[in-house]
Amino acid sequence: MGKTTGFMEYERIDEGYEPVDKRLKNYKEFVIALNDEQAKIQGARCMDCGTPFCNNGCPVNNIIPDFNDLVYHQDWKSAITVLHSTNNFPEFTGRICPAPCEAACTLNINDDPIGIKSIEHAIIDRAWEEGWVKPMPAKVKTGKKVAVIGAGPAGMAAAQQLARVGHDVTLFEKNDRIGGLLRYGIPDFKMEKSHIDKRAEQLVAEGVKIRTSVFVGAAKDGLGKDSKVTNWAKETVTPEQLQKEFDAVLLTGGAEQSRDLPVPGRDLDGIHFAMEFLPQQNKINAGDKLKGQIRADGKHVIVIGGGDTGSDCVGTSNRHGAASVTQFELMPMPPEQENKPLVWPYWPTKLRTSSSHEEGCEREFAIATKEFIGEKGKVTALKTVRIEMKDGKLTEVPGTEQVLKADLVLLAMGFVSPVAAVLEAFGVDKDARGNARASTDFMGGYATSVDKVFAAGDMRRGQSLVVWAIREGRQAARSVDEFLMGISELPR
Ligand SMILES: Cc1cc2nc3c(=O)[nH]c(=O)nc-3n(C[C@H](O)[C@H](O)[C@H](O)COP(=O)(O)OP(=O)(O)OC[C@H]3O[C@@H](n4cnc5c(N)ncnc54)[C@H](O)[C@@H]3O)c2cc1C
Ligand code: SF4
Repeated sequence: MGKTTGFMEYERIDEGYEPVDKRLKNYKEFVIALNDEQAKIQGARCMDCGTPFCNNGCPVNNIIPDFNDLVYHQDWKSAITVLHSTNNFPEFTGRICPAPCEAACTLNINDDPIGIKSIEHAIIDRAWEEGWVKPMPAKVKTGKKVAVIGAGPAGMAAAQQLARVGHDVTLFEKNDRIGGLLRYGIPDFKMEKSHIDKRAEQLVAEGVKIRTSVFVGAAKDGLGKDSKVTNWAKETVTPEQLQKEFDAVLLTGGAEQSRDLPVPGRDLDGIHFAMEFLPQQNKINAGDKLKGQIRADGKHVIVIGGGDTGSDCVGTSNRHGAASVTQFELMPMPPEQENKPLVWPYWPTKLRTSSSHEEGCEREFAIATKEFIGEKGKVTALKTVRIEMKDGKLTEVPGTEQVLKADLVLLAMGFVSPVAAVLEAFGVDKDARGNARASTDFMGGYATSVDKVFAAGDMRRGQSLVVWAIREGRQAARSVDEFLMGISELPR
């Protein structure tokens, strides 16, 4: 513990943001990271409380009190060693993790929690600047071959762990670049894509073979382009080919099937899934040329869905220059403050206002869409109704129907499951929600019903968070290593 009385002396310092008018002009990151002195003060606030609930609240179990202390003492090099011991990609989580660790921080019982995420951000950015992030190729090769299908954070973390213990890893990805939803989903203003590119270089230097634009699936599904998900595949590789060529296969294909809203008028022009809209802007930011981009310029945009994806549509629409942006949430507005004694150390339900909301957005709660209204085949309005909780069920409130103008509607209501065809091609059992069925047991975890086939990340647990994907990728890598070698030295 750096400073015994730090938590009494210092206030929490939040990271700053560039002003709204400036950041709306581009798609660059706008968070102003803590400087060394500010990070030191944040580190000094850590009480090293004995039972570090933060460490338990973090899905990758980052050893938070230790790196807080090291940052307080300005020992940044040791801090990155500690951070990398549990998290392959802290520059991802230090930018976009919702930080459940902070909800669990002991200081959060009656004060503001430590800015753990901002410390993580400062440590990894410093490490890259100093050149401390280096490839760690295995000294001894095992001769075992592993195919990882899907290069999101789960697949990238698994590939890195497996390569570092000497396996020959091939990372297959149907998109033209790796990163999964980090690349084609999460906007650049939340996380610039150069962070993924640097990790791709590191993976290659560690021996991972990256094969992009390759769809893995049944030959009958062609290039797999029928399922309305991002796909720039030019080649198909079948499960049979992989089973023959590789000693183990890990499925980390995400949960890409968007939830639809099948109400009258759904087929009108101008109604799109968020995951049709967001990846296009990511591609354009990457310098690609696109014909017929879905644009929000001058339009009245309604985003249906109150979560992260919806918020990303709000931020992107405002950068396009939308005339107005309104976001719908089915559930009633949650309280602004949680009842801390009741919910700590768990993730509380409370009103969360994102940086995209602050850039301009009307938020409507307890509202459902009954119908899309259009003219000449194009959406022009939405018919809505207010809803309330009655006898444990969401019920329409009579007499509250309304018609709201809309030229562009973005559906951001979450994801139902992985694309079924991929799991079916492997013959893997699914759970009740359509995800790959695999336990997380200590021994044999992440194994599916098919011999030598494992599954992790959103493909196994359903739509979740980047930090959970990294955790599952790491743990699945250990399971695969145990399966191949009998024992594993990889952390779990
Ligand atoms: C718009 C949006 C915003 C989000 N914001 C946040 C946030 O702020 N913070 C946060 O923590 N989480 C956020 N998430 C959730 C987070 O991105 C995901 O939980 C995480 O990326 C899941 O990682 P994954 O590796 O399991 O899957 P994914 O990231 O989905 O990656 C799966 C990869 O597998 C590839 N693939 C699938 N099938 C095949 C196949 N048959 N052959 C070859 N390749 C295949 C896909 O193309 C994809 O690249 C957001 C999600 C979205 C959509
Ligand atoms: S990965 Fe997320 S939960 Fe874990 S320490 Fe970082 S911000 Fe907190």
